[in-house]
Amino acid sequence: MKAPDFAYARPASLDAALALLAEHGEDAVPLAGGQSLVTALNMRLSAPGLLVDLNAIPGLAGVTEADGAVRIGAMTRHRDVGTALVRERLPLLAAALPHIAHPAIRNRGTIGGSVALADPASEWPACCLAAGATIVVQGLTAERRIAAADFFLGLYTTALEPGEIVTAIEFPLPGPESVWGFEELSRRHGDYALVGLAATAKRTGSTLTEIRLAFFSVSDRPVLAVKAAAALEAGDVAGAQAALADELDPPDDPSTKAATRLHLARVILGRVAGRMRGGSVSEES
Ligand code: FAD
Repeated sequence: MKAPDFAYARPASLDAALALLAEHGEDAVPLAGGQSLVTALNMRLSAPGLLVDLNAIPGLAGVTEADGAVRIGAMTRHRDVGTALVRERLPLLAAALPHIAHPAIRNRGTIGGSVALADPASEWPACCLAAGATIVVQGLTAERRIAAADFFLGLYTTALEPGEIVTAIEFPLPGPESVWGFEELSRRHGDYALVGLAATAKRTGSTLTEIRLAFFSVSDRPVLAVKAAAALEAGDVAGAQAALADELDPPDDPSTKAATRLHLARVILGRVAGRMRGGSVSEES
């Protein structure tokens, strides 16, 4: 199918993009990598009157470290998230990156587009939750900084207000005792996850504290499994796996039953917990 007719603007500044979005209201949407938006247009799932292309705006892409955080510009392509800085400082993201779609999509799709889209099967939103990231959002008159835990509100639904643009995602630098885990199961490499888990914790000996378990593809949004994390902090892996029945609400579709996804979520929790308790960061990278 072909997309319905739309107008196209390629503003050269963030202010100009925000002004266009404000002027056209709900009829205008930002265009980032286009890997999800253009598909939605072609399938006529979406019919905005104006696409506001963010690709010519300077300063929206890149990975930098400052003030105890790694800041990743919203227009950073998935591929370009994998810098030496991210591999060294945010290995969780480096581990998640190869699971996102295929090389062609990783070359164009952006981290900001993924976060703004809020597909519950996506890797970056779960990483944001697990890592305690902040989503930086610019509106016409003000910037807002939104904790990832408050940003993902439901299926393709976020705390973004109409006309706002995600400008960056900031990840706090993990401390020296921090460990992480990432696991994803899909039918074929590059497919969306059947179930996935991004996790962080602090490890002293084999004891884990401050555990954050962010599951994806198990609900209408990425889910922080707090009861499972509490059980894991008490050293009760089986209890943590059991707690997932209360915390996850997996979709039940013809290809994969909800019960199967829940079972797989328990399996990957066991794997990730084992590695975080005993393995080192380098074992997982
Ligand atoms: P776009 O498609 O340009 O935009 C997506 C939405 O976000 C639009 O509504 C747009 O208006 C809005 N938007 C974009 N940027 C901003 C911004 N800065 N501020 C506010 N709103 C914004 N993703 C995964 O995570 N894992 C996968 O396994 C995966 N598999 C895929 C397989 C296929 C075949 C395809 C086509 C896509 C797949 N994707 C997957 C999606 C891909 O990662 C997209 O790139 C991503 O979801 C959207 O990023 P984008 O930059 O292309 O955004």
